[in-house]
Amino acid sequence: MVTVGILALQGGVAEHERILERLGVAMRRVRRPADLDGLDGLVLPGGESTVFDKLARALGLAAPLRDVIAAGLPTLATCAGLIYLAQEVEDATEGQRTLGVLDISVRRNAFGSQLDSFETTLEVTGAGLVPATFIRAPLVTRVGPGVDVVARLADGRVVGVRHGTVVALAFHPEQTEDDSVHRAWVAALRTGRTSLPDRP
Ligand code: GLN
Repeated sequence: MVTVGILALQGGVAEHERILERLGVAMRRVRRPADLDGLDGLVLPGGESTVFDKLARALGLAAPLRDVIAAGLPTLATCAGLIYLAQEVEDATEGQRTLGVLDISVRRNAFGSQLDSFETTLEVTGAGLVPATFIRAPLVTRVGPGVDVVARLADGRVVGVRHGTVVALAFHPEQTEDDSVHRAWVAALRTGRTSLPDRP
């Protein structure tokens, strides 16, 4: 049985839980450092990256989170979760910090207010064709050496990456009824792998 922790400071926690429950995964909400003990995987949901930052620092959770992810805990991050992992953030708020464990640059709210949210269908490496919801989504503007691109918009812009044990998506696969991304990720964890495979 794999146990997956979900960072539960704020944001779309319930949506991930609903899918993981359906997939028969044991889950734990992560709010304190001790909640990270013994996890097989970690989900960072969407929400507001500035709020994750403030609350995680206030609760003494930021450094332990960074340490377990850097040490190789398989992690699936969506939207604000992706921003929270990134090494560099364009359009960050004053004083906003991130965990900085993923060598990418992201631009927050990259699609502007004209296109606040939209849905499309994307090919995600290891998960196939999936419906993707973008909500005040970031864009990945730089991908460091060794970081794989796992999802692009039709125009080529990068909206999903994988590096080591971390998968980070700018959109919300958990906002739809399709569970291919979570299914592929959980299947990997169950067979002792650490991230999305190269093929569905
Ligand atoms: N714009 C949000 C942020 O900066 C992310 C939005 C989302 O997670 N849907 O954190």
